[in-house]
Amino acid sequence: MPKFSRLRSGHILARRWFAKAGLEAHADEYIRYLTEHGYAVPTVECYFRCVAHFLHWAVQQHAAFHDVGDALIDRFIHGHLPHCQCAPQCRRTSADVHAALMHFLDMYGIARATQAPIVSVSIDAELAMFTQYMMEVRGLSESTRHVRRRHIGEFLADCFHEQPIQISKIALADVVRFVMRRTRGLTPGSVKSVGGSLHSYLRFKAISGTPVTALIAALPRVALWRLGGLPDVLSPEEVRRLLSAFDRSNATGMRDYAITRCLLDLGLRRTEVAHLCLDDIDWRAGMNFRR
Ligand SMILES: [Zn+2]
Repeated sequence: MPKFSRLRSGHILARRWFAKAGLEAHADEYIRYLTEHGYAVPTVECYFRCVAHFLHWAVQQHAAFHDVGDALIDRFIHGHLPHCQCAPQCRRTSADVHAALMHFLDMYGIARATQAPIVSVSIDAELAMFTQYMMEVRGLSESTRHVRRRHIGEFLADCFHEQPIQISKIALADVVRFVMRRTRGLTPGSVKSVGGSLHSYLRFKAISGTPVTALIAALPRVALWRLGGLPDVLSPEEVRRLLSAFDRSNATGMRDYAITRCLLDLGLRRTEVAHLCLDDIDWRAGMNFRR
């Protein structure tokens, strides 16, 4: 549990709003969740106050917490925030509020999923064997075992729900989907931690004879999976649509268009474009890059 350097009045008010929404027990749980996901104390405090602000508004709207979904969040962000007069300390940055609420709902969903009895029985048995392997074979510390056990518990619940665990039925797409969802908004270090947990677990399964070679082979690239959906190159049609997106009737649009043409036509890197000067260009010979 992080100790905030100083409890500001806004933070005390935020705790009160959690309590009024009947979610007092989840206040510390949310702080712990964000901290375990690698967020720095100022971000944790910011998100905490964002969620508290939302809960305060939701209570006034007589909305129960199980009613919370995209529609209610949209009403809060687009309907309430621009005209909010709740309290001076309230967080009103829509991007922060949205991220904070997504994490809060994510935490709430995970907490409920792990309470499902059937999931607990089969997954707990698997986690017990994995924990024994981490302790006796790998000699991992208690804190590392705790983190990996939690990651793998979430992974197995995501893959199998209430079905019996059959590792051979896990497809690469299942692993990618879990990592994409689980690592949304995390720091690179936390993303690597999730990948490390999966790697450790699959190695454990490989030792027991489960065919997981293909899944393990895909794991070292886990830190780059956020970019995995991006195409290597753009098609001619995509290039045409990209270039036609700029409004070249004003200076900003012309600048953006020129930057994009440097990237596309000259293959310059971002930093090279950023540092490009007029003297770098041989105007008589054309667009020759002199450095
Ligand atoms: Zn407000």
